[in-house]
Amino acid sequence: MLKTFKRIITFTCLVGSTFSSAWAENAIFDFSVTPIADNVYSIVSPSFGLPTPENKGWNSNSHFVVTDKGVLLFDTGSSEIIGNEIKKAIKSVTQKPVRWVVNSHSHADHWLGNAGFSDTGAEIIASARAVTIMKEDGQGPVDAFSRMTKGATGSTHIVYPTLLLTQGEKRNFGGVDVEFIFSNDAHSPGDLLMWLPKQKILIGGDVLSSQWMPILTYHGNVPHLIDTLYSVVKLQPDIVLTGHGEATTAKSIKRDADLVAGVWKRVKEGHQDDKKPNEIILAVSDELGPKYRPLYQNFDSEIKRHVELMYKRQQ
Ligand SMILES: [Zn+2]
Repeated sequence: MLKTFKRIITFTCLVGSTFSSAWAENAIFDFSVTPIADNVYSIVSPSFGLPTPENKGWNSNSHFVVTDKGVLLFDTGSSEIIGNEIKKAIKSVTQKPVRWVVNSHSHADHWLGNAGFSDTGAEIIASARAVTIMKEDGQGPVDAFSRMTKGATGSTHIVYPTLLLTQGEKRNFGGVDVEFIFSNDAHSPGDLLMWLPKQKILIGGDVLSSQWMPILTYHGNVPHLIDTLYSVVKLQPDIVLTGHGEATTAKSIKRDADLVAGVWKRVKEGHQDDKKPNEIILAVSDELGPKYRPLYQNFDSEIKRHVELMYKRQQ
């Protein structure tokens, strides 16, 4: 059981499972496209949490940029079916083919839709560390998502990225300048973000979230998450597009950074003072809850998990 649970959290971003089931009741399988700026669009999933039969596995966002030479797509969802839905949604705004696909990280709810784009010969791009994990996981997430959604994710051909990026790499996609930012494993090993300097738009996977608590995972790095969030704020983006949740602003990323830094500091001090995790959870909730509870829909369920995870990092 524990082993199964560990495997599932390897494949997904793991956000409060009790919370997700309530949220899933409102989930819709409607891939409508939201215009963000000139030639930049988002397809935002209304569902937040683990893949379920209700959300049919669609629990993460995709974003795309229409360039002179084709479409640059960021993240492809949890299944080939979802990848095909994303492709259809893109066609509602442009007839240009998807020529480049970027996978933000190795969690399979962000890249198993790659197969939807293999017929156009799209170049699929990710970091080497993320691809190593994708290959280690292999068929695992496809089977896990099928079980979790009672078959709604269908069968998926696994299509791995073929172009491996290095830190700080810059590229021009059909006239659009893009800088890739590595988070140094903030949310998971090999996360990357995409910065459009001219448009002042930052596109991230699960290093960035909105409406919900920052997404900490068992294989992420908390100090690097704090550093990355503050460096994102320094870029002064006008718009921030996230892995889960609506488009947001630098202000909410600063809020996230302050929260994670504040909890990290308190856990570190509590651990040095030989306090037990439960005592720290109570103290952190009392001190930070009044300010942050109204700002996140899952503050109470996640703050406990954050403290426990950070506490383990001290040992
Ligand atoms: Zn993730």
